[in-house]
Amino acid sequence: MARYIGAVCKLCRREKQKLFLKGSKCYSEKCLVEKKNYPPGQHGLSRRSKFSEYGVQLREKQKVKRIYGLLEKQFSNYFEEANRSKGITGENLVQILESRLDNVVFRLGFAPSRKSARQLIKHRHFLVNDKIVDIPSFLLSPGDMIQVRDKSKKLDIIHDALKRTKDNIYSWLAVDKAALSGTFLQLPQRIDVPLNANEQLIVELYSK
Ligand code: SF4
Repeated sequence: MARYIGAVCKLCRREKQKLFLKGSKCYSEKCLVEKKNYPPGQHGLSRRSKFSEYGVQLREKQKVKRIYGLLEKQFSNYFEEANRSKGITGENLVQILESRLDNVVFRLGFAPSRKSARQLIKHRHFLVNDKIVDIPSFLLSPGDMIQVRDKSKKLDIIHDALKRTKDNIYSWLAVDKAALSGTFLQLPQRIDVPLNANEQLIVELYSK
């Protein structure tokens, strides 16, 4: 599966906000958005930042795509799926993104970032309903149980990430830190998802 391999801090600077793509660095003084809160590149400081309506919609889509670490094709496939489903398209889209295994592993606190979660999943450190799943884009259903495999329970990266995570802060997830397991209880309500984005702008963009 193709993936973005460029400098990720640039992506946050482009959006002029923290997208939390680098784990612990994002919470430290080393965060580049804290130091250089202007777009990257030679003309970053002087660049005009007034966007057209299309530009605003495009930036919103790029931001959400980058937060969840997706490429264009994957993201537009999710949008099509959200659009086909019953209910509000923007909310459906957020629910699909939140159901990805890499996102859930990150939100449960087993990885410091979604990128790390993807790597851990690909290295076969997690079980879903007692079976190894090594596909980061695997979509969870309500009731699915995620566990760290026995052989992976001593990994420092998992324990360090868990130390920085508060207990059960998401209403749609339940985590058992001692057992290194968690449950995807239900699809989240949009209002509960801490995603600083206006998904309606994305719907408008794809509807053009
Ligand atoms: Fe973004 Fe994290 Fe880099 Fe800060 S440290 S710019 S939040 S990826």
